[in-house]
Amino acid sequence: MKLNLDEAWAGALRELLVPTNRIVLTTHHNPDGDAVGSVLGLWHILEQVGVHATAVTPNDFPDFLSWMPGSDTILRFSSSRQKVREVMAGADIIICLDYNGFSRTEDMESLFSASSAKKILIDHHPQPENTFDLSISVVEVSSTSELVFELATEIYGLKAFNADAATCLYAGIMTDTGSFSYACSRGRTLEIAGMLVDSGAVVERIQSLVYNNFSADRMKLLGYCLADKMMVFPEFHAAYIWLTREELKRFNYQMGDTEGLVNYPLSIKGIIFSVIFVENDNHIKVSLRSRGNFSVNEFARKYYNGGGHLNAAGGKSFQPIDATLADFEQLLRQHLQELNAAAI
Ligand code: 5GP
Ligand code: MN
Repeated sequence: MKLNLDEAWAGALRELLVPTNRIVLTTHHNPDGDAVGSVLGLWHILEQVGVHATAVTPNDFPDFLSWMPGSDTILRFSSSRQKVREVMAGADIIICLDYNGFSRTEDMESLFSASSAKKILIDHHPQPENTFDLSISVVEVSSTSELVFELATEIYGLKAFNADAATCLYAGIMTDTGSFSYACSRGRTLEIAGMLVDSGAVVERIQSLVYNNFSADRMKLLGYCLADKMMVFPEFHAAYIWLTREELKRFNYQMGDTEGLVNYPLSIKGIIFSVIFVENDNHIKVSLRSRGNFSVNEFARKYYNGGGHLNAAGGKSFQPIDATLADFEQLLRQHLQELNAAAI
């Protein structure tokens, strides 16, 4: 069933997304499939109706996303700093896709306050910040790509969806739902996937480009994590994986190689909470996943200065790895009741 979206949204976007406005499409740091998919999906739709936009990401994204049509047009702030500064400063409209607070763009954050452009949020994360001129925030949808589909069909109809737009949006929905295995309880998500397939998205090809794209090193890293680096705590219904910089180096780490590792412990019977800790240069990147009503969004906000969704969230620890892991094990004890209740 179609969601009842605020009718004013399509009207407002119709007025803002016009050729005379300088439009910039942005997304969060370390863009994932939904981030790149929603940006490029919207970019293709706008091109199709004669509206040119500039797509910007804070940094680069992994190989398994860079095949998306149009990805070569995206400006990366990390490698084109001056160009992105100019584009942001000169913008009339900045669209913020798949994140809900400017700090999620990391180094780009100051470019938002410096710009007089209207900032428009299009996103599906809970608890959006109150800093947008128009906030199109819908948590019920599977992904930002699904929300872009709903808005764009409302404004332009399905005719604006060429195969490239359909491919990018399908990839966004597919990655945010783990190939339609979670965050996908509404039939509408599958209906939309079907319409995207009819508009030219090729399911097998997209699945393969995203998931059958491992280097041998990445596959070995996966094996190593599961065999040697996974700590399982059946009494807490929890597990974690941890990786040091030295280990990443040993497996010739490339951006994106740790993506998806955090999901594996959830395949163990009785495990409903899984975390991966990955050592970066100046912090530990923390990714959290859960099943059922144990909120990793709350957990990430409270302990890791992060956030996300009920069942998928992220954040950072600024303690050394040993202290981070010891604290986490202590937190498991503190949350035992909640974990027990959620595991039923
Ligand atoms: P991942 O663990 O794959 O990096 O992210 C999972 C989810 O949490 C995504 O929806 C992502 O946008 C969100 N997320 C990841 N890191 C952060 C963070 O540091 N802060 C917030 N607010 N959300 C995050
Ligand atoms: Mn998303």
